Formats: sequence, structure tokens, C-alpha cells
Amino acid sequence: MRQIDHFIAGGSDGTASRLGDVFDPNNGGVQAQVALAGQAVLDRAVAAAQAAQPEWAATNPQRRARVMFRFKELVEANMEELAHLLSSEHGKVIADARGDVQRGLDVIEFACGIPHVLKGEYTQSAGPGIDVYSMRQPIGIGAGITPFNFPAMIPMWMFGVAVAVGNAFIIKPSERDPSVPVRLAELFLEAGAPEGILQVVHGDKEMVDAILDHPAIGAVSFVGSSDIAHYVYNRGGAAGKRVQAMGGAKNHGVIMPDADLDQVVTDLVGAAFGSAGERCMALPVVVPVGDDTANRLREKLIPAIEALRVGISTDAEAHYGPVVTAAHKEKIEGWIAKCAEEGGELVIDGRGFTLQGHEDGFFVGPTLIDHVTPDMESYHNEIFGPVLQIVRAADFEEALTLPSKHQYGNGVAIFTRNGHAAREFAARVNVGMVGINVPIPVPVAYHTFGGWKRSAFGDTNQHGMEGVKFWTKIKTVTQRWPDGGVGAAANAFVIPTMG
Ligand code: NAD
Repeated sequence: MRQIDHFIAGGSDGTASRLGDVFDPNNGGVQAQVALAGQAVLDRAVAAAQAAQPEWAATNPQRRARVMFRFKELVEANMEELAHLLSSEHGKVIADARGDVQRGLDVIEFACGIPHVLKGEYTQSAGPGIDVYSMRQPIGIGAGITPFNFPAMIPMWMFGVAVAVGNAFIIKPSERDPSVPVRLAELFLEAGAPEGILQVVHGDKEMVDAILDHPAIGAVSFVGSSDIAHYVYNRGGAAGKRVQAMGGAKNHGVIMPDADLDQVVTDLVGAAFGSAGERCMALPVVVPVGDDTANRLREKLIPAIEALRVGISTDAEAHYGPVVTAAHKEKIEGWIAKCAEEGGELVIDGRGFTLQGHEDGFFVGPTLIDHVTPDMESYHNEIFGPVLQIVRAADFEEALTLPSKHQYGNGVAIFTRNGHAAREFAARVNVGMVGINVPIPVPVAYHTFGGWKRSAFGDTNQHGMEGVKFWTKIKTVTQRWPDGGVGAAANAFVIPTMG
């Protein structure tokens, strides 16, 4: 059986204290095993990073940017291989897998401009003969701990910026779909990066703890579920590291009575069910304002959801594929059952869905539940599957309050033709990323990504200038040069000339 190894010091390293199963979500079988390791393997990666990083940091930023350019070209040239590998372990359809790689590449493209971004600040004559300037220096060694749902994009969010500013970087991918980050690290080496600048170590909690406690790692970026994000934030912080830890989500889509409902239905179906709902920016809660809006929306949603095609991840006609593991399928179906017990009306029940010829695959049918209320546990928690809950609001204020009071605050969207309502909503809602007639408001790479409340611990977002801040330390120099007799013949300052 294929074994997925670590990628350390420019080569494959199969050391493992244990092995983990990597499934084929389309068929339910085990397709590979991943080496699960801890402290000893991490120590080797850290040693390689320490050996390589000072020279990389001293390389001028333009040369580092050239590596980023070549890496971007190599990823583009290998797009189909990466998308198929990603899809085979995750289960998302190929078009979504390409999107996963492309959204990561957008950050690489941002990182190609790093020489411009790293220019510091300067104040001349802050005092008599005194100048002040600041420079951004790399942390040294950074680490990224990533979730299963975007195995290409999220590592690139992190290392794209971290290595471009001069750090060495160690990725600990999700053990459920760990192959793509290894391939990315191979391509980064091929692009001309020195060995040890981008490495991959595999593992579970044991490796995560080793990373959080390692004294040579200066900053850790985490993306995953909220309880673990909180744990990572606390433990990494206690070890003196800089930590940003993004967590779960339960994004709401508010539908005002004046919204274009046909457009809303198209948008909602993609945002709630695309990638089987396994997106932190999915829209699993829809909040129609007023019963009339709710009834009209429901009537249009039912046929659109019934028309969705669930298929294997390589089915080009499928809207979405299987979820990532049998355990996750069971968890999603458990939440559907719980929501029905709590009083939700199961309009379309996706439990027990099977695909002919792939009966053991991890498929969940699309599910629509109406009359969900804020006191339900199934509303309070993230389901992370192809499940759309309708929570009816009486008016705008109630619709604004629902996402604002929810424990998560990643994304939210409002659909309306009323500019004032949209403006008011964007200004007042207690959520980090807002869409106005945009169902999945993921900011472009040169802006930054990050939620509020239990969707993110720490104070810096991913990528864009926030990423640059996170992966660098600012140093400020205040200088005064004594008068060495400028103008006096002996000390005259001579402008250097070529030759
Ligand atoms: P997860 O929390 O199970 O795993 C994330 C990482 O943590 C993995 O690398 C995993 O190996 C590690 N891990 C797992 N258990 C651990 C433990 N007990 N101690 C220490 N480390 C542990 O998350 P997942 O299921 O892979 O990903 C889905 C979650 O990620 C969802 O909650 C989703 O909303 C969230 N997510 C958030 C964002 C965001 O930007 N806010 C983006 C994508 C995904």
C-alpha cells in the first residue's frame, strides 16, 4: 500500500511511530497510509530549517520572489495532477479541487510582490539630526497546522507569505488528506528554494503538541475546529509563540423581502451544498425575513435542491461528492437526527443516501430543514455537511441579531436590493467577513481572511498585509550620527562611483 512520508531537508522521510489510514471517500476503502510522527521527526525538520533559513533570509527579496514566480508556474503546470490527487483523498469534485489549488495560488501571486511589501517606514529628522526607520524581519521558523477541507489553499495561505518574507516553514497537514502539501513542497524545491525552507511533517495531536512546545519555532498558524484552535492558541501562547488560530463557522445568509429570490436560490444551493458543505465559508443557515419571504424561498429551494447531483469526485456532472470519512458522515447524519428531534421540520432528508456502484462511499444527500430556532443545539453547532437550516426572522433587527449573537463569526451574507439595509447590516453585524449579494465572501488574496468570536483566536488574519505582519517582526531603529566634520576636507563624504 502507498505510504505518505514526511518531506524533510529536500527528501522523503518515512519515519513513523504509527501509521494512519487515508481513505478513498468515493468507495470507503483505505487507499494509503500516512506516517504519524512526533518530536524526533520534528527535531530533524527544525535542524534542516535552522541550517537553511539564515541564508534564505539574507537573500534579497527579489530573488525570493523569483522562486515564488517559478513555483506558481510549476503549480499551474501540474494543476491537473494536484487536483486529482486532492480530490481522491478529500472527495471534493475536480472543479472544486482546482479551485482549492487556484485560491492558494492567488496568495503565491501576492507573495511575488514581496519586495514592494517589505519596504519599511522612514522618518527623517524625528529629532535634531535623528532619523527613525523600521524594517520587517522574518520570525525564523514558522509552522502551519492545517485542516482537511482545503489541503492546497490553506497551506499556501500560510507558507506563501511566510517563506516569501524570509522564514523557513514546516507544514503539519491534516492526516486525512496529507498528499497535496507534500507535492507542493517538492515543487517548491524544484522552483529553486533551498532544502529545508519548506518541509512537511505528518502526525496528529502528538505532532501538534511537539510543534507548539518546540522552542525553535517562533510562530504557529492553525486552521481547524474551534475547540482545537483554542487549545492551540493557549498552548502555543504559553510556550511564548506568536499564534493565530482560525476555528469553525456557522455562516448565515439573510434574505430580505426585496431580494431576487431566483438569484438567491442559485447562490444558496452552491454555497450550502458545494463541496458537500465542507467549507468554513459555506452558508448552512438561511434567514428569510418575514414568513412570506420564507414560504416563497422554500418553494423555490425544494426543486433546486432535489435537482442536485451527488456523485463520485471525478464525475464532471456532479455538484458535490462524498464527505471526507465515514466518521464525518455519521456525525452529519447525527446532527440531522438531532435537529429533527429538537423540532426542526425535515423538508428534504439526505440520510441513508447511497450511490449505485459506490455503496460504501461516504455520501450524504442534500438536506433542508425548516423552522429551526436559535435555542437548538443543531443550530448552535457547526454541522459541516450538505445541510441547510432555515431560521425564520420576523424583521431586519432579528435577522441582524442571529449571526451577531452566534458563537461563530466567520462569514455572513445579506441579499437585498436595498442599499441602506445592506450598508446598515455590514456596519452593525458582529461577524468578520460580510457579503452583500455575495454568498461566499472570501476576500481576495491581497485583502485578508479571518473571522471573529470563536471563529478565530489571535489578532492577525491570514494572507495580505495581515499575513506579512504575522510572519515578520518589526524592528525600529533610531539613529543619530555624530558630526564627523562634514565639509572638512579630511572627512568629506564621497559619493561612491562605479568601477
Ligand atoms: P480539526 O480541528 O479536526 O483538525 C485540524 C488540525 O488539527 C489537523 O491538522 C489535525 O491533525 C489537528 N488536530 C486534530 N485533533 C487534534 C487534537 N486533539 N489536538 C491537537 N491537534 C489536533 O479540523 P478538520 O476537521 O480537519 O477541519 C474542519 C474544521 O476546520 C471545521 O471546523 C472548519 O470550519 C474549520 N475551518 C476553518 C477555517 C477558517 O479559516 N476559519 C478554514 C477552513 C476550515
